[in-house]
Amino acid sequence: MTQPVTLTLNAGSSSLKFSLYDITGAPVQLAIGNVENIGRQPRLKASLGDGVPRVERELSPSEASDHPSTLKTVLTLLREHFPKAHAAVVGHRVVHGGPRFSEPMAVTDEVMAELRTLSPFAPIHQPHNLAGIEAARAAFPDALQVACFDTAFHRHHPKANDVFALPREYYDKGIRRYGFHGLSYEYVSGELKRIAPLLHAGRVVVAHLGNGASMCGILDGRSVASTMGFTALDGLPMGTRCGQVDPGVIFYMVQQEGRTIDEVRDIFYNKSGLLGLSGISNDMRVLESAGVPEANEAVDYFVFRIRRELGGLAAALGGLDALVFCGGIGENSRKIRRRICDGMDWIGIELDHDRNDSGAQVISTDFSRARIMVIATNEEIVIARAAKRLLSEQAGAGA
Ligand code: ADP
Repeated sequence: MTQPVTLTLNAGSSSLKFSLYDITGAPVQLAIGNVENIGRQPRLKASLGDGVPRVERELSPSEASDHPSTLKTVLTLLREHFPKAHAAVVGHRVVHGGPRFSEPMAVTDEVMAELRTLSPFAPIHQPHNLAGIEAARAAFPDALQVACFDTAFHRHHPKANDVFALPREYYDKGIRRYGFHGLSYEYVSGELKRIAPLLHAGRVVVAHLGNGASMCGILDGRSVASTMGFTALDGLPMGTRCGQVDPGVIFYMVQQEGRTIDEVRDIFYNKSGLLGLSGISNDMRVLESAGVPEANEAVDYFVFRIRRELGGLAAALGGLDALVFCGGIGENSRKIRRRICDGMDWIGIELDHDRNDSGAQVISTDFSRARIMVIATNEEIVIARAAKRLLSEQAGAGA
C-alpha cells in the first residue's frame, strides 16, 4: 500500500524549503525542513514526524551544489523515513503570478514560459522558484506540478490600489501594485473564517511581520490593499529591505555617488531595514535585547511605520474590525505588539496586556471595539491544499 503525499517546495536563491503532507484526507504534515547555503556550505535542517529526532547537519558541497542535487538529497532523506510515500503532486511557492494568475495553476510548458517572462519583475526570487519547478519536473516526471503565487491573493485589488501614477503605458506593461505574502494572508484569512466568521466578513488588517514584512487590508476575505507593491521591497522596513523610500534616493545614489544599479539594489535589498538602521542585526530578538540607541531607533522606525500603515489600511477599508498579527515577530514579540497597539485606541483597538503576555490568541480587551488576534501562519499547508485540490480536479476531469 502506498501513502499518497504532496511535497511542497519553496526554492530561494541559495535555499530550498520543503514539506511533506499526507493527502489521504485533509492534508496532514509529515515532515518539514530546509537546506540553506546551497552551493557554498550547505546545511540541512528537518523535522521528520513525531518521535523522530530533528535532523540537523552539514551537507557536502556535492550533495547540494544546485537545486537539482539539493532536491535529490532531500528526496533520499524523505524516502528513508517515508518509504511508502508516493508523490502524485508537487506544490511550489512562486513569488510572481503577474497580472494573469490569480489562482494556483497546474504547470505546463506554456505556464512555465509565461512565468519566465515575469522573472524581470522579481529577479531575486522568480528564477530560483522556477529552477525548483524544473528540478521537481525532472525528479517526478509523472507528477502534477502546481504553482501557488504570492501575488494571487491580491489580484482583485480595486484599480486605484493597483496602479502607480506613471504614464499609462506602464500599467499595460505590467508595472502594478501586485502585493506579496499572499499565501500567508490566505491562510490567516481562512483561519479567521473558521474561528470568527463575522470578523472575517468585516474589515481586517493582517500584519505579517517576519524577516520579510507587509500588511494587508482585507474586506470580506478579499485583499483590498497591501503595503507591498511592484516588488517585495515596498512598504514596511524589513530585516534587510528598506521598505518605502522616495525613489529620488535612487537618482541620488546613481548620479551623485556614482553607484551602479546593482549596488543600489544590493543596498535596498540586503543592507537596509533593521540591519541598515541599527548597524547591528536584522534579527528582532538581537535588537530587542541590544540596549543601544541605534538598535532602539531601528525598532522605533519599524513600529512607527506599522502604526502609520495601520491607519492607512483602515482608511482603505473604511474602518477596522480586526487586527491580526502573524510572522516570526508578529507571533512571538509581545513587546512589538504592545508598542504597535498602545495609544491606538482612536482606531478602535485596546490591547489587554495580560492576554498579550500570556500568548493568547485574542489579545484585545473585552471592551475593544476591534479585536486584536495572533494567528500563527502556515504557508505550506495553503500550497498542500491547492496541490491536493488540483490533483482531485485533474482526476475528476480524467474520469
Ligand atoms: P521569514 O520572513 O524569513 O519567514 P520569520 O517569519 O521566521 O521570517 O521571522 C523572523 C523574525 O522573527 C526575526 O526578526 C526574528 O528575530 C523574529 N522573532 C522570532 N522569534 C522572536 C521572539 N521571540 N521575539 C522577537 N522576535 C522574534
